[in-house]
Amino acid sequence: MQRNNVPDDWRRKKDHYHLKGIICHSCGRGFIGQRLVCPQCGSDATLEASQYFGTGRVISYTAIYDPPAEFSKYRPYIMALVELEHRTLFLSQLVDVPPEAVRIGMRVETVFRKVYVDGAEGLIEYGTKFRPVLAEASTESV
Ligand SMILES: [Zn+2]
Repeated sequence: MQRNNVPDDWRRKKDHYHLKGIICHSCGRGFIGQRLVCPQCGSDATLEASQYFGTGRVISYTAIYDPPAEFSKYRPYIMALVELEHRTLFLSQLVDVPPEAVRIGMRVETVFRKVYVDGAEGLIEYGTKFRPVLAEASTESV
């Protein structure tokens, strides 16, 4: 992986770790990461910074049964497109649930987990993943 600008990269990682971002009060959309202009409507005057996004719902997902070698020990794993507060979209891994139990609309919350180990003694990367909100996971009446 090429890293041209390590400080910028780490600053962005911090936002992604904590799902920190902005809300645009012109169009109502939220975005992970810091922006100077809203990617949706182009407004630069109504952005509210330092918002944290913590819960959402699954709007699409897929189970990965044949992952790249470095992720093979997680097989099968689930990648989910999650809609957070303020219609903020985030693609991430869904954990603590088998693929057959995932449902569209399932409420999920952030959890901080290991993402990748770079070699036997390499860097361990952590990141945000999602897990079902436990209070609702047991009531499968919907
Ligand atoms: Zn906007």
